[in-house]
Amino acid sequence: MANFDLNRLVRPNVAKLKPYSSARDEYKSEGEEMIFLDANENPFPSDVNRYPDPQQRNLKTELSNIKGIASENILLGNGSDEVLDLLFRVFCEPGKDNIITLPPTYGMYSVLAGINDIENREVLLDNNFQPKVSEILGKVDENSKIIFLCSPNNPTGNSFSEETVEEILQNFSGLVVIDEAYIDFSEKESWVQKLNNFPNLVIPQTLSKAYGLAGIRLGILYASEEIITILNRIKPPYNVNQLTQQRALEELKDQGKINLHVANILQERAGLFKALGETEIIEKIYESDANFILVKVDDADKRYRQLIEKGIVIRNRSSQPLCENTLRLTVGTELENKRLIQAFKELIS
Ligand SMILES: *Cc1c(COP(=O)(O)O)cnc(C)c1O
Repeated sequence: MANFDLNRLVRPNVAKLKPYSSARDEYKSEGEEMIFLDANENPFPSDVNRYPDPQQRNLKTELSNIKGIASENILLGNGSDEVLDLLFRVFCEPGKDNIITLPPTYGMYSVLAGINDIENREVLLDNNFQPKVSEILGKVDENSKIIFLCSPNNPTGNSFSEETVEEILQNFSGLVVIDEAYIDFSEKESWVQKLNNFPNLVIPQTLSKAYGLAGIRLGILYASEEIITILNRIKPPYNVNQLTQQRALEELKDQGKINLHVANILQERAGLFKALGETEIIEKIYESDANFILVKVDDADKRYRQLIEKGIVIRNRSSQPLCENTLRLTVGTELENKRLIQAFKELIS
């Protein structure tokens, strides 16, 4: 393993910070009998007259039970977008540090790098959409803080091979982010089970996709207790609101429903895969471990516009490297997928 020293990675100003202590942090579970006159809240009860738990204890306990990971290894945020941004703000010094991303991939890494004034060193995936390890490691210098891997990858849909990911983890002394937004649609094992083997491993997940809760904005980050402690230092105290905490807790308790939805989406994905293979204008369908399928067509711009005219909005990914003339299709309901297939069949070369 490359020498991993967390203290070397943290920005000096963050290392010196004393976290803001919110009123609600100091007294909590003493509970029901206490009178809370500390936070200038409105005393008249409703579901939401109190500030939410800044550490989201109940929600983390539930996640901890489901995932088999201690609460101390979990950070929650206002969507993955927030937890990813926190990583930049803790570890990447503006105007000085750099990150490495592997296009074609999720656009948010590069957006956040831009916002935080961090150089984004790009190393394209290979023709099978797998990381090119020696090129990636060749780009690393002393200011390289984070390598972003997305597996299953958006927009390509494939997972990265375990050996490839492990080689990067072993040979990089900065943080390796493995974005698992789509892991629940994949048969591959989550890297969360391997957190203890790799001190530099950081895994974002989300309730936005498999859990069907994009609207409540709940992002999850799994990492070592040391990394989580530092991130907690700069996170806004009330970053996950009360309604989100309540709703997430309710939904997480109903794993049966989630499993049913995922199973249905996987079945629909298989059906789409087969049906799309029989349409004239689709030249290639890429394998998917996610709830979307990337396809190559004869003329993506034209087909995209034609589908809009038929009332179906998909994503044109043609501007991404290695993705010329590709469209990304989210797996919908049975009815939506039928409409999509029908529309594709009406398009003729
Ligand atoms: C959809 C998606 C997310 C989820 O972001 P949220 O902010 O949690 O909704 C994260 N990473 C990738 C790669 C995604 O495609």
